[in-house]
Amino acid sequence: MTTKRGNRKTNLLMINGFTYSQDHNTCTWKCSSAYKGCRSKVRKLPDGTVYEVNIEHNHPAPEYYVKDGIYFKV
Ligand SMILES: [Zn+2]
Repeated sequence: MTTKRGNRKTNLLMINGFTYSQDHNTCTWKCSSAYKGCRSKVRKLPDGTVYEVNIEHNHPAPEYYVKDGIYFKV
């Protein structure tokens, strides 16, 4: 599990090939496909502990490649 800085201000959390983006400055991270209706989300505490609140997705894992530490969607 790694945390990478995505484009500009968006932090991404990758779990099992799915990416999550932080919900504002809360400890809740929503699936990057939440806007498509995916309800998956996790909680990440300041100490780095991740709770898998809901890891059920309504879509397959996206494919990404990494360049210069930034994830790009294929
Ligand atoms: Zn999802």
